[in-house]
Amino acid sequence: DIGVPADGGSRVVMRPTLPEPDATSHKYSRGMVAIVAGSMSGASELAATAAARAGAGYVLHLSDAPQQAGAHPHAIVRRAFEPDTLMDERIGAIVIGPGLGRDEGARAKLGAALGSGRPLVIDGDALRLVDAEALRTHIGPKIATPHGGEFTHLFGDKGGAKTDATRRAAKRTGAVVVHKGADTVIAAPDGRTILCPEANSWLSTAGTGDVLAGAIGAMLAAGLEPLAAAEAGVWLHGQAARRCGRAFIADDLADALSAVRG
Ligand code: AMP
Ligand code: MG
Repeated sequence: DIGVPADGGSRVVMRPTLPEPDATSHKYSRGMVAIVAGSMSGASELAATAAARAGAGYVLHLSDAPQQAGAHPHAIVRRAFEPDTLMDERIGAIVIGPGLGRDEGARAKLGAALGSGRPLVIDGDALRLVDAEALRTHIGPKIATPHGGEFTHLFGDKGGAKTDATRRAAKRTGAVVVHKGADTVIAAPDGRTILCPEANSWLSTAGTGDVLAGAIGAMLAAGLEPLAAAEAGVWLHGQAARRCGRAFIADDLADALSAVRG
């Protein structure tokens, strides 16, 4: 059980106990993740691969990008976005932000995701389009994954300790907030806080955040509650980075999730 530490403080990220497939499992029961993207496919493909490699049974990639030779066939790609798609009750998590873009189409998709009430991982471009009040209106479980710049854009930089700022952001929005960086802080709206020190500094490369969003989406779709899903995703991401060693690329990191999924 993840209790609030007696001192109101925080604890360090722990290895999660994750659901295992058994003879009764099928692709939907393992968790269906919808990646809501725009016309830039790289980031959302990383998120889609990460979701699949973190254990999701079905990844639906809603993309406007033209079909590419050699694109990964494990994700089911559907073009021409329709908001109703997100109302499919089999969808266990929506990941929105990686490769979303910031145009009118992106805004409409974000509105559909916020209105769906489905469990949500909100990252990247979506964190530039949303504001704290709009995020609050989403009635379902939600996890926001800002890096420092996105956090400041969304919540303003009032200074002070990262843990305090992250807790305030979670309380204000009702989202679990994963405030990324070398010292990632995860905070829940009720104040529970988890720290992730000792991350591999080679994570500082493009696309690694998209991999994290996909991994967290898989955990949410698997049925973990938002704080546990965020923690499990951060843990898997950190272990994958450890396994990758040095000068790896985001594609390697996504692929390494399979081996650390355990
Ligand atoms: P993004 O900026 O969205 O691509 O996300 C970058 C990912 O890499 C996040 O998971 C960060 O926590 C992680 N990261 C970035 N820089 C560092 C660093 N210097 N040391 C450890 N982890 C980092
Ligand atoms: Mg990012």
